Amino acid sequence: RNWAEAELPHELNQAIERQGYKKPSPIQMAAIPLGLQQRDVIGVAETGSGKTAAFVLPMLVYIQKMPAMTEEIAAEGPYAVVLAPTRELTQQIEEEAIKLAHFTPYRMVSVVGGQSIEDQGFKLRKGCEMVIATPGRLLDCLEKSYAVLNQCNYVVLDEADRMIDMGFEPQVIAVLDAMPSSNLKPDSDEVQLEASKVYRTTYMFSATMPAAVERLARKYLRRPVVVNI
Ligand code: AMP
Repeated sequence: RNWAEAELPHELNQAIERQGYKKPSPIQMAAIPLGLQQRDVIGVAETGSGKTAAFVLPMLVYIQKMPAMTEEIAAEGPYAVVLAPTRELTQQIEEEAIKLAHFTPYRMVSVVGGQSIEDQGFKLRKGCEMVIATPGRLLDCLEKSYAVLNQCNYVVLDEADRMIDMGFEPQVIAVLDAMPSSNLKPDSDEVQLEASKVYRTTYMFSATMPAAVERLARKYLRRPVVVNI
């Protein structure tokens, strides 16, 4: 198994090479093709498995397919959002995403507690393709109109079980509900997807599947593929 099989664009392969990732990890091998097909994914994987690249790479491919972010487009918010339970994890995700996006022009903003919300609002207003956030602070930004998610159709819930354990279920739900629900895929596989329409793709990673995580999955994921590696 090798990276060529993942059929990623050149600038992402260059970044992978620059990182010295010789071959895709099992979770990457399974999840990247699904993400490229914009299938929803439930990944049961631990930190250290390479799960960050498994969702960041297809996310960058998705962003590449979207119109370049002019100022006007940027006013409608980011194209993609990653939610994670802690500041430390968002930082790790951001570092990995910056490295993988090295040969792309995409901007990332992290939105976490303990730092100035005004600064974060300022960065968001300048425009970015991707936001990496803890749910509470992102919700604060939405409520204060520092952030909008009017065109966010690529979502990752990282360590969903930990977000629930920390009491973030209402904030996660509020953030997801701020995204255009008209872009959720139909629930039934009998309904044809429209070729020209952008649908929301949701990745959920969780080491365990308590009832509250299942609830989230049932409400926001559509015919998810479970990747358990
Ligand atoms: P993660 O599970 O996403 O926290 O990744 C764990 C570590 O593995 C990070 O330091 C990554 O930089 C690294 N990593 C991710 N994918 C690969 C790969 N295919 N080969 C080698 N290292 C990797």
